[in-house]
Amino acid sequence: MLSLYDPVTALSGVGPKRKKLYQKLGIETVDDLLHFYPRRYDDFSHPLPLDQWQTETTGLVEGTLLKKYPPAYIRKGMVLYKGLITDGFSRCQITFFNNEYALKGMSLGESYLFSGKLVKSLSGYQMTVTTVVSKEEKETFRPIYRLTEGLPLKGVIHNIKDALTAYLPLVAEQLPPALISRYRLLPIRDALWSIHFPKDQTALAEAKRRLSFEELFFFSLALFLLKGRPKENTRIRIAACSMSPFYQSLPFSLTDCQKRSIDEILKDFSSPHPMRRLLQGDVGSGKTVVAAAACYAAAQSGYQSALMAPTEILAAQHEKTFRDMLCPLGIRICLLTGSLSQKEKAALRAGIQNGDFDVVIGTHALFQQSTLFSRLGLVITDEQHRFGVRQREALTQKGDAPHHLVMSATPIPRTLALMLYGDLDLSVLDQRPAGRKPVETFVIHSDKRTRALHFLRKQIEQGGQAYIVCPLIEEGVGELTAATRYAEELKETVFWGISVGLLHGKMSAEEKEAVMSAFSRGEISLLVATTVIEVGVDVPNANVILIENAERFGLSQLHQLRGRVGRGERESYCILLSDHDNPDTRRRLAVMRKSNDGFFIAKQDLKLRGAGDFFGEKQHGVPVLGIADLMEDSLLFQTAREEARSLLKEDPKLEKEEHRPLWEKVQHDWIQKKLWTE
Ligand code: ADP
Ligand code: MG
Repeated sequence: MLSLYDPVTALSGVGPKRKKLYQKLGIETVDDLLHFYPRRYDDFSHPLPLDQWQTETTGLVEGTLLKKYPPAYIRKGMVLYKGLITDGFSRCQITFFNNEYALKGMSLGESYLFSGKLVKSLSGYQMTVTTVVSKEEKETFRPIYRLTEGLPLKGVIHNIKDALTAYLPLVAEQLPPALISRYRLLPIRDALWSIHFPKDQTALAEAKRRLSFEELFFFSLALFLLKGRPKENTRIRIAACSMSPFYQSLPFSLTDCQKRSIDEILKDFSSPHPMRRLLQGDVGSGKTVVAAAACYAAAQSGYQSALMAPTEILAAQHEKTFRDMLCPLGIRICLLTGSLSQKEKAALRAGIQNGDFDVVIGTHALFQQSTLFSRLGLVITDEQHRFGVRQREALTQKGDAPHHLVMSATPIPRTLALMLYGDLDLSVLDQRPAGRKPVETFVIHSDKRTRALHFLRKQIEQGGQAYIVCPLIEEGVGELTAATRYAEELKETVFWGISVGLLHGKMSAEEKEAVMSAFSRGEISLLVATTVIEVGVDVPNANVILIENAERFGLSQLHQLRGRVGRGERESYCILLSDHDNPDTRRRLAVMRKSNDGFFIAKQDLKLRGAGDFFGEKQHGVPVLGIADLMEDSLLFQTAREEARSLLKEDPKLEKEEHRPLWEKVQHDWIQKKLWTE
């Protein structure tokens, strides 16, 4: 009896050795192999004569083999195998690098399709061949899979073909028939065949659409199921109140989008369902004051708010900001972090439980069981992308279905936001506070470092403050002393007479806080730091940031770092230092130079790195999708989500007989394997 969950060794030609190789790619069963989709395809459907290709590009030519030359040994490990072909009009010399068998396996006088980079010189056409297929090979598309050392493409193609032939009849349709007909989707078996061996572009596109839909549909179901029924109820009522005392106490007037977001939150407060809202805004757009407004309103109705930050530095900073804004209005605030002594924590917890505080600000310590609230009405998580799905749920379970506001500075596209946060509503801060100028950005080589440092000094002398970010500091003790020495050296040379501070992840929370608050009071003018300053840190007077080894950071991370400056009225600068000259790095850094728009940058980042890297599974609790493309399939995703939602309306737990297989699929493949791992 065959089963889809047979190990890959059930296939002919797969022994223990290949099994190990497949394991490296995460493939254990035949089913895994069937869902191991090609990364791309070589398209052999449109060969053209030599003179119709632009040279210096990849061309596809049908040619007859005229001649094989003896191999040329260039140097150790580099052998060229050359031959001569004709397309009927012109001749072309072909070259294979280190591929002994390609040419050997071909016969003189036979026709083949050659694909590779084509150049034209005085001696005529030349092609460095990457792929060659005989004309008899039926498929005009060749699937290209992600491989691992020792696993040949031909072998994988062979195994997959075998698997399809023997096992396809066992693959059951899991999408409801109504959906298949409504969206004219391919049946699963056809789709699986075509995704591996499409007969043409149309078949490929259809297969992709079907499988992407399915993936997004399962994913949406899993998210909805995880979150329980779409709408819970809450008994918390945060009544409408006058916000003017709060507004009047602010040193600035709110932007329109800040006002709009606050209104949206207040409206959610009056509903019988707990708020689930994502407040999204680029760095520096002013999310904190929106959060404070929400806490203010909650306190007016006698409810407590909990604000959770990803780092102690940020928690401490929020506490200070909130104190300034809210204490004069009679709101009581406390800071609860992991670094407090047991005794201090116990005392604060007793106070929280007793209702002595209206706003509790803290880090993960807030999650701990022993923190009990007397009347928790609102939970706010800042820089949400740092927390996993599960952590988020843990905090909201603390009260009686409290309202939840999620703030994210990671400027993710709307589709991704939906994907990450499922059924959250969205408020967007898409304007910056008045008077902000874009941060001028430069990319330089390290031979200009000294000049750049002098520029920093000049800015400091004119009353500004500066950051230097070194990614090295967190990598072990040796590097740590190196960075400490670097800071010392700066103090004694370029920054002679200027107060220099050092901030890194290995310092205790108190030490960090002491340095940070000295910097924010202006007692330190230059802060040498690791990426601990990446998130949220707000010192409006700081106006220059220099980032060493900028190539080590992702674009979105660079944007976050750059967001530490340009928060006040001063002209601001960001200097990216990098000696890496490969085109990819240059392209990425150029994006930074050109744009100050986090959404644009995030999009470029996604394009350059792929969604999988952008939202690494571990960090963000987002599964890496196998086939759907979040950027390109956003419409499909919306559709799939809507369908998932309405299916769950009809059968909230997928308990009906006909939904059994669907439930199992979602439960095993999505909830257990992908979403619920930490
Ligand atoms: P982020 O969205 O990155 O968390 P913050 O809330 O830290 O941004 O705000 C950045 C800075 O802008 C803070 O110094 C804050 O006081 C200031 N700010 C916020 N809103 C306004 C506004 N409407 N006008 C002027 N400054 C503002
Ligand atoms: Mg912030």
